[in-house]
Amino acid sequence: MLVGGELVEAEGGATFDNVNPATEEVLGPVADGSAADMGRAVAAARRAFDTTGWSTDRELRKSCLDQLQAAIESEQEEYRHELVAEVGCPLLLTYGPQLDAPLREALRWPRNMIDEFPWTRALPPKDTFGIGYESEREVWKEPVGVVGVIVPWNFPMEIILNKLGPVLAMGNTCVLKPAPDTPWNATRLARLVAEATEIPPGVLNIVTSSDHLVGEVLSTSPDVDMVAFTGSTVTGRRIMEAASISLKSVFLELGGKSVNLVLDDADFAAALPGAVSCCMHAGQGCAIPTRMLVPRSRYDEAVGAVRAGFEGWSYGDPMDTANLQGPQVSKRQQERVLGYLARGVDEGARLVVGGRRPAHLDRGWYVEPTLFADVDNSMAIAREEVFGPVLVMIPYEDEDDAVRIANDSDYGLSGMIHSADLDRAKDVARRIRTGTLGINNGVWYGADAPFGGYKGSGVGRQCGIEGLEIYTETKTVAWPVA
Ligand code: NAD
Repeated sequence: MLVGGELVEAEGGATFDNVNPATEEVLGPVADGSAADMGRAVAAARRAFDTTGWSTDRELRKSCLDQLQAAIESEQEEYRHELVAEVGCPLLLTYGPQLDAPLREALRWPRNMIDEFPWTRALPPKDTFGIGYESEREVWKEPVGVVGVIVPWNFPMEIILNKLGPVLAMGNTCVLKPAPDTPWNATRLARLVAEATEIPPGVLNIVTSSDHLVGEVLSTSPDVDMVAFTGSTVTGRRIMEAASISLKSVFLELGGKSVNLVLDDADFAAALPGAVSCCMHAGQGCAIPTRMLVPRSRYDEAVGAVRAGFEGWSYGDPMDTANLQGPQVSKRQQERVLGYLARGVDEGARLVVGGRRPAHLDRGWYVEPTLFADVDNSMAIAREEVFGPVLVMIPYEDEDDAVRIANDSDYGLSGMIHSADLDRAKDVARRIRTGTLGINNGVWYGADAPFGGYKGSGVGRQCGIEGLEIYTETKTVAWPVA
């Protein structure tokens, strides 16, 4: 772990096992940090914020972010293989969203924005009370302070980079707590920060733990100014509640149940077979469109086309580049997903493909890619985030009905619309309450593109200008006109 610039073991030398979900083998030990370890990390981050020049020295921040970028790139291939081993993600995905894509821009974009960001905004001089006393006024943007960064296991490096880039660029100090299932990418980062950067001690601290509640210190400590969290909606709610006692700000990136809305004029042959890509990374992505809405008038044709995609999908060993689906991250997740599949059948949905643990893969926490038809939007498999390789197909009557079903969700993170008419698709997009939307497979993702959710999918935006502003406080200053 990294605490106050030192690479340290956990209190008492405690460790827990990091396990490969594809083989069920133990990869090795991880420091099992305690609440006291977390407390030391928070104190170090507080000290670094209050007593070093980090929050004001933009040149230092730029050079440190450059060093961090170079350090990670120097071990990019080690990262790649370690991510496959601990996350169980397909190797192919590490060349995209799991590693290479965020590594290209998640630190660089905010680093390059340090000079461009509107740190100061002048307001016109004003005699506010009409008494002949005019003041000059300015609005200043300043870092929030100490940020607790809590991340999940599904895209750990992607999320860590997209959080640390803006947090550090804006002048904050932080404590990062990775998920217990995927700690090694974060402990590797700890070593790189300590050995290959001049990031001042305490600016970036990293604490691993098998105990989720060690993360709760970040929500409750009065020395933490903000919690930036990505994870489940249940945990997000608990963090918001705990953080309310000290009234710290929270930024929450939570779950999703996004739609893949196929309008009746869409090219079915082009749009539908690709729907199986929701099984990518075993469906363990928050923004994956897992609820497919198709016109009832063409329902059977749609199910047939999607089924063909599912039957041609290759999954298994994540190291095999033919596979875009590996195992679920843990036995617990596998059981959770299988539980949802059983519930879908019980609720009357029609199982078209999959539905079980694959018989031919006797090791690893795999689940068959699974397609359900005749799904009603009130069923649990349509309302709750399964986080598995599962697509549900829901029929709709007309465009208004489609929009109604799309919005009839506790979530609002992402989505997809297919139509032959871009203007029509944009009109529908305006009516859907969600934070991101792709039209005809358009890709919205990027360090410059705000990402986040409506409703139960979160509060705030990651990336883009909005994702820089969220890590700032605002100060308005005035003085008499000379
Ligand atoms: P999780 O909520 O169980 O855990 C996420 C992190 O929070 C872990 O590091 C965990 O140790 C920590 N944590 C758990 N309880 C805590 C507490 N009380 N206080 C502080 N920290 C605590 O989620 P998960 O199972 O790791 O990840 C899957 C979830 O993450 C899914 O719901 C998925 O949709 C969501 N997710 C969202 C996004 C997004 O950007 N919206 C991205 C990826 C994943």
